[in-house]
Amino acid sequence: MKKLEATSLVLLHHHLKALRLPTITAECEKLARQAAADNADHLTYLLQLTELELLERERKAAERRLKAARFPTHKTLEGFDFAARPSVNKLLLCELARCEYIDRRENVLFVGNPGTGKTHLAIALAVAACAQGYRVRFFRLTELVTLLMEARDERSLLGLKARLAKLDLLVLDELGYVPASKIGAELLFDVISSAYERTSLIVTTNLPFESWTEVLGSERLTGATLDRLTHRCQIIETKGESYRLRDAKAKMRKGSAGEGAGSGGHREPRRRALEGGQRSS
Ligand code: ADP
Ligand code: MG
Repeated sequence: MKKLEATSLVLLHHHLKALRLPTITAECEKLARQAAADNADHLTYLLQLTELELLERERKAAERRLKAARFPTHKTLEGFDFAARPSVNKLLLCELARCEYIDRRENVLFVGNPGTGKTHLAIALAVAACAQGYRVRFFRLTELVTLLMEARDERSLLGLKARLAKLDLLVLDELGYVPASKIGAELLFDVISSAYERTSLIVTTNLPFESWTEVLGSERLTGATLDRLTHRCQIIETKGESYRLRDAKAKMRKGSAGEGAGSGGHREPRRRALEGGQRSS
């Protein structure tokens, strides 16, 4: 095969740059040598180059989506110990990770005590959604309410709502830890209403539905919020004791087993202290 002259190569790089094809620019010469060695035809070479460019674009876009979602930590379903949480149906979670509920604009609600893996599962599903091209944003509920109130004061609420409306999936973590003010509750209700049948929501809460009135302030608002949230919704209960507590207890058992018979008297008060910790967390 005839070799491209150095000046033509400079021109080629210039054209590729103008066309915004950075991966092809970086790989074209190496791949050309490979194609020549393999006796590959021109179209095969072009196919390989365009595939590389597309793959790299998709990788970068996925990276951007993950960053834009602002997860507090990275969690996956693979990292979740389903055996330790039998109330959570692994098959259902794996099905949800395929994101068809987002196409159907359905919601997912995780309800359970602190430390039972609600946030972990919510992030894991949302990370899966990012990987599949959905636009996602994670908020701790108090953070979103603060943002909404600030935007309202600065008269930028419409802009914020427009940004939220562009999302495919909105994660609202920890509904119920801090009671929202009346205005906060109304702004939150507005977000949930606007999302209804347009954007999927994943909500985590440690509160049973009966207690939501305490957070949202009014029965009317609570009824209307629950109505929108739970219409076409998977409700997943993470029953049982805190995973952290379980971990701590297991470590302690290991520790005290090594301490010998003399330490037996300390076990009971320590256990009670831990159980007290679970209630207050
Ligand atoms: P919650 O949101 O219900 O309070 P988290 O999801 O924050 O609980 O879980 C607390 C910690 O325990 C996190 O670090 C989480 O990754 C971990 N965790 C909880 N449940 C499990 C589990 N079944 N398998 C693995 N890690 C878990
Ligand atoms: Mg949580």
